[in-house]
Amino acid sequence: MTKPLWIVLGVIAFSASSARGQTAPGTRAWYERAIVGMEVGPTGAQFGHSDPADTRYAARFNGAEIVRACLEAHGEYVVIWARDGDYAYYNSKLLPRAPGLKDRDPLKDAVATARPRHMPVIAYCVVQQGGHFLKAHPEWEMRGPDGKPLGRFCLRSGYLEAMKAIMAEQLAYGIDGFHVDMLDQSFGPPIGCYCDTCQKQFQAEYRHPMPKEARWDEPWRDMLAFRYQSSQKFEKALAAAIKQANPAASVDFNYHGNPPFSYEVGQRPVQHAGNGDFVTGETGVWGFSALGVGFNAEFYRASTPGHPFQVAMQRGVRMYHDQTTRPLADLRWELFTLLAHGAFVTVVDKTGFDGGLDVQTYERIAAMFEDARTLREHLGQAPHFEAGLYYSSKSRDWIGRAHAPDWMQGILGAHKALVYEHIPFGIVLDENASRAALRAFPVLILPQVGILSETELALLSDYVREGGKLIITGQSGQYDALGRPAVNPAFERLVGARVKGRLDSLDNWMCFGASVPGVFRGGIRPDWPFLVKGPATLYEAASAQAIGELLRPWRTTRQKEGREGTEWPMSAEAPVGPAVLLNTIGKGQVLTFAGSPDHATASEHHIVEARRLIAHAVRLLNPRPTITIQAPTFCEAVTSHDPSTRTVRVHLLAYASPPQSMPARNRPFVLPTPIEDSPIYRVRIELDRPIQSARAVRDQSTVKTLDRRVEATIEGIHEILVITY
Ligand SMILES: [Zn+2]
Repeated sequence: MTKPLWIVLGVIAFSASSARGQTAPGTRAWYERAIVGMEVGPTGAQFGHSDPADTRYAARFNGAEIVRACLEAHGEYVVIWARDGDYAYYNSKLLPRAPGLKDRDPLKDAVATARPRHMPVIAYCVVQQGGHFLKAHPEWEMRGPDGKPLGRFCLRSGYLEAMKAIMAEQLAYGIDGFHVDMLDQSFGPPIGCYCDTCQKQFQAEYRHPMPKEARWDEPWRDMLAFRYQSSQKFEKALAAAIKQANPAASVDFNYHGNPPFSYEVGQRPVQHAGNGDFVTGETGVWGFSALGVGFNAEFYRASTPGHPFQVAMQRGVRMYHDQTTRPLADLRWELFTLLAHGAFVTVVDKTGFDGGLDVQTYERIAAMFEDARTLREHLGQAPHFEAGLYYSSKSRDWIGRAHAPDWMQGILGAHKALVYEHIPFGIVLDENASRAALRAFPVLILPQVGILSETELALLSDYVREGGKLIITGQSGQYDALGRPAVNPAFERLVGARVKGRLDSLDNWMCFGASVPGVFRGGIRPDWPFLVKGPATLYEAASAQAIGELLRPWRTTRQKEGREGTEWPMSAEAPVGPAVLLNTIGKGQVLTFAGSPDHATASEHHIVEARRLIAHAVRLLNPRPTITIQAPTFCEAVTSHDPSTRTVRVHLLAYASPPQSMPARNRPFVLPTPIEDSPIYRVRIELDRPIQSARAVRDQSTVKTLDRRVEATIEGIHEILVITY
């Protein structure tokens, strides 16, 4: 039977927007077709205030050589350093040039070499870096509450016009765009800016003086809004100036709206992601954990729905400029994790002090970029999600306050649980949450979402009523907009229980008796109390069914007297309320944990049973998912689903990090050893429908198909199973 025309058109439109690189270069912007590229910059001036007479520095930093090396490494674009806090790496009339350049102009040479090869050249341009330029312009320096200079630029100062002039110089070289780095306002106290300009503008806008410290009250709310506006206005003004000079030039800003970053940085997840053509974030085990790689990618996707998103990873083990080179297996694991999650990826390379390139690095990058480009047809499809993780920027600011990473343990632990249990996840952000965004997820998890506005509660209630499945943890929904404890009847109706109080302990326990549904208890022994470390609520069931018991911990006499800490978990004393509440509303259900299996999973006192509660809850609420995956915990599975071609793709990524030795400092906090091996392991995948065919895209793996099930033995760091139904 011939398909109706609109379906055929729909399929074509879907393919064009969902799989990258299907059209000839030139028809789409470079960032819409590229999947891999490089950023290359020098090492030696990154801490600022370097010796301007040292002509050894960047003496071999050569734009033509960098472009050629990136082309040979199969990169599709190059981001070349044009400006850092000390120097320009081109013939600037406004900035001092790096001393070793002499009469060379790396930016000019890069553009001249790249243009005949149709390789986009993006200028890397710094905003926030202390160095010679800041020293020359103390009038633009950010000020702390005591008036002291903070070593950064004020984003409301004359620096904006200076940045525009600097970028105009670079645009004149015929570059294809800008990567603008470090739009942060700070990474910790003291925060700014309290310069005269900022104080005047604040007073004019809010009719009261700037609060000098974080008091977490209404004036402080204005202060946060003002700082967020400082970053956003600066980004928008720069982007507008660039587009005015060259509408075809791209601009992206290095983003700090995702965990572990919080209000200090001056960015909110959505407000500061969409001010350029696409968002760029960073990743890496060295700074953000192995799980942070996929988490960050999905966070960036959620912050700019429907747009390409770029993630920068690096070739070194520890930090961008550390001059180490990771093993190929380790680099491949990170690159393919990002690509599987839909990102396009920049690998950052820092040259030697003299500007020379590390030949071994480029050989490894060439191998993995070539591999990635041959798999292009399997990348960029629409993701398949089962569970959504709800990230509340309001709770980040007003519950997390000065210790936001503690609050973030909720979403990070829930994410860890989903990855370990191979439940495909995505992120939902409070700033752009909509009915459609929520509906994309059969299950939605609210990890420690302390603040839920009336609008959000109405949205969530509708989601559940229409068939959505909601999981709530910890002390969600119990605080007002300023993070103060508050009674919230709409939240209580959603949960189907009354909030009687909150435990002040984190070492809380749960126990599930034999009467608890088997699918929920899983293999957990009945009548065994186990530690579920994290915030807990005392609920009294109303319309909800109460399941299991929440137990409070013992406290020693000295602890009661406040003379001994409670960091170290104490054993369970007595039940104080239900562990779980299950409430039915319309076609959907709400499962509320009185405790925090999410926080527990990210904590130092993580036990497997606490983590599995998350997976059990998902499976209880959504017993027949489209895709079920069984694989080892070291394997992350990332799924895409293309209904138009009836194809499911499952990317399998093996994080097989070998054991590490004792660190010299901060025991036992170790940086994992880079991956070297190519592990062999088994996976089993089930679809909720009969399977037509299944294959692995690489040669080493073997695949067997049995009706609705695929059994495969996977070899390697990355594999893709392509399943049609
Ligand atoms: Zn200022």
